[in-house]
Amino acid sequence: MKDFYNQSIEDSSESLNTKINHGLSNAEVQARLEKYGPNELKGKEKKSFWIVFLQQFKSFMIIVLIIAAIISGVVGVMEGEGLLETFIILGILIVNAFIGAYQELKAESSLEALKKLAAPESKVIREGQTIQIASSQIVPGDIVILDTGADETLTPMAIRLEKLGKVLGIGALVICIIIFIVGISYGNSIMSVFMLAVSLAVAAIPEGLPAVSTVALAIGVQRLVKKNAIIRKLPSVETLGSATVICSDKTGTLTQNKMTVVDAYINHTLDVIDRENPASQLNQQETGLLMASILCGDAEMSQNAEGQITFTGDPTETALLDFGVLYHIKKNELEKTYPRVDEIPFDSERKRMSTINKWADNQFQVNVKGGVDEVLSVCDKIMLHGEIKPLSEEDIEKIVAANEKMALSALRVLAVAYKPLDKIPSNISVELVEDHLIFLGLLGMIDPARPEAMAAVAQCITAGIKPVMITGDHKITALAIAQKIGIHREGDLAITGNELEKLSEEYLQQNVQNYSVYARVAPEHKVRIVKAWQYNGHIVAMTGDGVNDAPALKQADIGAAMGIVGTDVAKGAADMVLTDDNFATIVAAVKEGRRINDNIMKAIQFLLSTNIGEIFLLLITSIFNLGVPLLSIHILWVNLVTDSLPALALSMDPAEDNIMKRKPNNSADGFLTKGMIWRIVYQGIMIGSIPLVAFLIGLRDGGLALGQTMAFATLCFAQLTQVTNIHSHTRSTFTHNPLKNKTLILAILVSFLLAFLVLIVPQIREIFKLEALNLEQWKLVILLSLVPIAVVEIIKLLGLNSTKAEKTGH
Ligand code: ATP
Repeated sequence: MKDFYNQSIEDSSESLNTKINHGLSNAEVQARLEKYGPNELKGKEKKSFWIVFLQQFKSFMIIVLIIAAIISGVVGVMEGEGLLETFIILGILIVNAFIGAYQELKAESSLEALKKLAAPESKVIREGQTIQIASSQIVPGDIVILDTGADETLTPMAIRLEKLGKVLGIGALVICIIIFIVGISYGNSIMSVFMLAVSLAVAAIPEGLPAVSTVALAIGVQRLVKKNAIIRKLPSVETLGSATVICSDKTGTLTQNKMTVVDAYINHTLDVIDRENPASQLNQQETGLLMASILCGDAEMSQNAEGQITFTGDPTETALLDFGVLYHIKKNELEKTYPRVDEIPFDSERKRMSTINKWADNQFQVNVKGGVDEVLSVCDKIMLHGEIKPLSEEDIEKIVAANEKMALSALRVLAVAYKPLDKIPSNISVELVEDHLIFLGLLGMIDPARPEAMAAVAQCITAGIKPVMITGDHKITALAIAQKIGIHREGDLAITGNELEKLSEEYLQQNVQNYSVYARVAPEHKVRIVKAWQYNGHIVAMTGDGVNDAPALKQADIGAAMGIVGTDVAKGAADMVLTDDNFATIVAAVKEGRRINDNIMKAIQFLLSTNIGEIFLLLITSIFNLGVPLLSIHILWVNLVTDSLPALALSMDPAEDNIMKRKPNNSADGFLTKGMIWRIVYQGIMIGSIPLVAFLIGLRDGGLALGQTMAFATLCFAQLTQVTNIHSHTRSTFTHNPLKNKTLILAILVSFLLAFLVLIVPQIREIFKLEALNLEQWKLVILLSLVPIAVVEIIKLLGLNSTKAEKTGH
């Protein structure tokens, strides 16, 4: 069994003893499964730490740094300065690669855990049928159907960040050349000018950024599992945060899917069921209605020794069984007397179900239940007061009116019909069985809204997200619930699947915003609805459970499959699986997505403002020929070591209070919004000015090395106070409870310690070419390091830290 790639399809299938269009037989699959074992790797090969470590050096930014280190080594040797600086740069890159590899492996192991939650499945042809199986059950000779997969490791954000890194890298090269020319024209030595240029290249590159976004998303994925949402693709977390529309099923997602029969309509009379005191005796027609509705269903009941009854099955059907028990009609007993001989199962396109039960010798009965219009359309007679009469227009009008009355109270209404047969048709078909039926009556059942749905819908609306209901249920029922829970608001429209089919593509695209309720829809309508929203630039989340929902789940930006009632096909097509089938979980997931996106933004702002600050510092000192304020090893230490820990810890920040009170981010804006650019620039200049002042004071008091020491110390510590400004663009840092992000406190402490060690341990200080600071100098360093808090607090107070949109949320 080798070289299949060299063989024709026919030869391959012959040598594997299989048929291309038919696949293997089930018996053969069993035999092969026993012979070859399951299709699983024994202990999946995990990427070793060292491989991941080495991969850290693949990044464009790091390559630039390595080249810079090598060139500085060559120049250093030529100028008799030695290789120390080169080794330190390489050493710092190694420390950075360690941190990067550790974070990446941590993120990977959390994703690995998720994959186990959603085991991989494959489509195969067996016994002529295409079926979905667990991939572990594939055997040699199986015909596997391959789809194009998308299984992304880089998130869109990480790709954008990598691009930004390249742009900054190229920008840095240009500035380097400028600095080089300026330095030479001042008559400085080639070595000192070159080292300044290398420092600048190092300063301009935001080394930690791509890792930050991946780690933040992976942490978000873990948190979402606890909130009942399993994310199947990492970038979906990011997409969730930008969702603008949530299209949700009704039954079970917005409602509890706990049905109870509360109304019955027989003989053109609508009765409210008194469940406390049910009628002790039913007339023949009432009994007939109940029997037909119970026999026509797959739900089961069981009774234990104490007489306690439990139901299993579809809630619509268990409601009917429960209703029967109220009148001492029990399905388990009924089915013994009237056994089922055939059936046409329910499907959500036809919206009906039929069974054929044996009534007596050579006597059978077709029992049908389903949507009112759908059942009425196949009835031509009606049972009235024990007599069978032709179904007149007047009858239909009365039935439709009763249906509407019940639906207005948000009831799901089922119509029940029957017809006697003297023999079972040899060819069971819908046309034959579901025709010429006798209408018996209607049953109205209540399915209460989920208590949390109303609050979740309200949250969507304040968050600028449009909630939309898409249901197979009747329009009036759907509308009543949609109004109750706030999905359908004044001015909104409701539409049925039939009406939708008549709308042109253009019309739907232009008016899709107006519809908040789609009733009596079939799964294929969902794709049209998603596409129409997407045409208008919206980011759409869509729920689904059935096999037919898969295309809509794939088309949606966030396909959300039901974890409990959902089919494997739906789950396989989805980006997210809701383990509690709950609408509120989608909203909670959107909130988490927004929190993560916010936190990635915070980290970007933090890291980029440092880069801008460093560039500012180096440009000013070179233009005015003030000397080199920071060596490249200082900048690398700040960028790669002391800065990266707080940046990563920002991903643990709690959500801002207004997170679901502001409009979704416009994904087309990217992450460099106006507010963001403003903060990066002004805070960058602030961060750069602090070491500039410190450098000038040190230069004046003790020369270049002291100046560099003061600049290095203030840059390290000012960054650590700056990170506390980032929690909120609008609120004062002092209103933020620091204990809400304990990881950040820890990160600040560790970073502080790392910077402190470099400054106070003489041996390390020597390597970094720093000088010892005296008490007065320390005081000054501390004072200058507090400047970011003072400046940003004042700017926040003046309302200048954020744009109007960020303040109002709109
Ligand atoms: P959702 O709101 O999640 O889309 P739904 O339960 O309203 O789901 P379907 O399950 O497709 O949608 O049901 C559509 C209609 O079919 C119901 O309104 C009802 O009239 C009818 N129906 C539902 N379940 C049954 C059933 N078991 N037997 C017969 N008819 C049914």
